[in-house]
Amino acid sequence: MSDRNHDDLTRRTDVVIVGGGLAGLFCALKLAPRPVTVISAAPLGQGASTAWAQGGIAAAVAEGDSAEAHAADTIAVGAGLVDETIAFGLAREAGARIHDLLHYGVPFDRDLEGKLAVAREAAHSARRIVHVRGDMAGQAIMAALIEAVRRAPSIRVIEGYVAEALLTEAGAVTGLQLRKADDATAKPVTIASRALVLATGGIGHLYAVTTNPAEACGSGLAIAARAGAVIADPEFVQFHPTAIMIGRDPAPLATEALRGEGAKLINDKGERFMLARHPLAELAPRDIVARGVFAEIAAGHGAFLDATAALGAHFAEKFPTVYASCLSAGIDPAKQPIPVAPAAHYHMGGVAVDRHGRTSLRGLWAGGEVSSTGAHGANRLASNSLLEAVVYAARIAEDIGGSDIAQPARPPAASVTPRNCAMPPLTETNLRTMMASHVGVVRDRDRLAEAVRTFADIERDTGNIALRNMATTALLVAASALTRQESRGAHYRSDHPAEQPALAHRTMTTLTAARDVAASLTGRTSARTPQPITA
Ligand SMILES: Cc1cc2nc3c(=O)[nH]c(=O)nc-3n(C[C@H](O)[C@H](O)[C@H](O)COP(=O)(O)OP(=O)(O)OC[C@H]3O[C@@H](n4cnc5c(N)ncnc54)[C@H](O)[C@@H]3O)c2cc1C
Repeated sequence: MSDRNHDDLTRRTDVVIVGGGLAGLFCALKLAPRPVTVISAAPLGQGASTAWAQGGIAAAVAEGDSAEAHAADTIAVGAGLVDETIAFGLAREAGARIHDLLHYGVPFDRDLEGKLAVAREAAHSARRIVHVRGDMAGQAIMAALIEAVRRAPSIRVIEGYVAEALLTEAGAVTGLQLRKADDATAKPVTIASRALVLATGGIGHLYAVTTNPAEACGSGLAIAARAGAVIADPEFVQFHPTAIMIGRDPAPLATEALRGEGAKLINDKGERFMLARHPLAELAPRDIVARGVFAEIAAGHGAFLDATAALGAHFAEKFPTVYASCLSAGIDPAKQPIPVAPAAHYHMGGVAVDRHGRTSLRGLWAGGEVSSTGAHGANRLASNSLLEAVVYAARIAEDIGGSDIAQPARPPAASVTPRNCAMPPLTETNLRTMMASHVGVVRDRDRLAEAVRTFADIERDTGNIALRNMATTALLVAASALTRQESRGAHYRSDHPAEQPALAHRTMTTLTAARDVAASLTGRTSARTPQPITA
């Protein structure tokens, strides 16, 4: 339902969840029968990365596998920044959350004995990815959860509204401001909350080349940062090495599982360029493969994923989603190599949360990709993100369930940004292009500094709240990337190519600190706070 009257929209519920992907819907279901309102920028099933997940969920459910082995793989990939306790907790709770998903109706694939079937993905030491009909995990998970949510009388869903600011009182979050999606001139509405859960997904759409939907533009992170929340590890953005380059925005994904099944990366001369870069070649950690593909393209040789020998005629049956994407561009992946490039895919950073999913602000929790729990460090292990979304959504529901929020929420203070101007499309395009060229797979001081200055200017000057939110998150990513003078995991600095042991700690920052980085570059004595939006 996207057209609602004002009273219906602002009707009070104490628990408000922003985001209708896996984290948001799972949290709402776990909170049932407690009344909750779920707000989603797009109709449920659209505008969420979850629906596009092709691999599945990592869970040590197979015989011979263990939570300890899963955690060890997670820690190894995270390049020294994974919080080991968090990684063990995640791996241990995986089995229980998979059972919850089965209970909500997710039809995970089973083997001939009826046990959950598990696939292998890069950098996992065991086959442990539970999946649905080959590469259909995301769609199947969303379909089952949406049905369960629609059936749950305790869950009210507001679709087609974008959260654009948090309302705070005495340091606590007391509600949020929303605006109808795709209507910059629509009047904002405010909703009170006593417990607000951010589950708005990632930031990929801040980049010109991405696998993420348009809604994944960092707005949740931005509104939390503007309200004063601590942000963790924003510089760590994972680039998927094999987005399919057929001129689509977002770019369709050629899942990692293809390489797990033996597909090879080749250049336009047919050479397997990853052999020279890592002993695991195509199955090396994602950041290394992404840089390999990036370098091959930068050198003018092109990059292709060749599954003709590994899958051939079985391609369509095993990877129907990838097959359909290729066919739509006239490429038959059973017979031809697929043109690929690295694309912004997953944000390891986000709103800093503790083990319960609590942020640094009272009344605000965060779960799923918008949060940063410490589980991924500088690089995410494949298929750990859906796992993190369900584990933390369940913990948040438990934490809110045990919190003293029995009193109804008070009506929120007046809206903070009453007027808005239209999104300037050129500025949005420039921001996304600059993120890709200056804050992308390979970074250096000069380009990062230019990006920080540009994003700080947009953040301060724009009269459009959606663009300001994009610039806020872009500024946080670029400022932290500039400050981290080393290469680690997904963050690669060509001017600081080595890892620095002294910097083996997570970044904890704020929007004020990011603005200060910008001010130090421009020679201003202090960062200027943005003007209220009135145009
Ligand atoms: C192509 C692709 C394949 C992937 N494959 C896998 C995989 O196989 N395994 C794995 O573990 N991970 C995978 N990932 C990553 C994983 O899908 C995501 O990290 C995860 O789905 C995030 O879930 P979420 O609920 O946090 O966010 P999402 O599923 O992205 O949902 C976010 C929700 O918030 C809404 N929203 C955003 N901003 C606002 C706002 N301001 N106001 C209101 N609503 C808002 C969106 O409309 C959406 O409903 C993949 C990602 C992509 C893009």
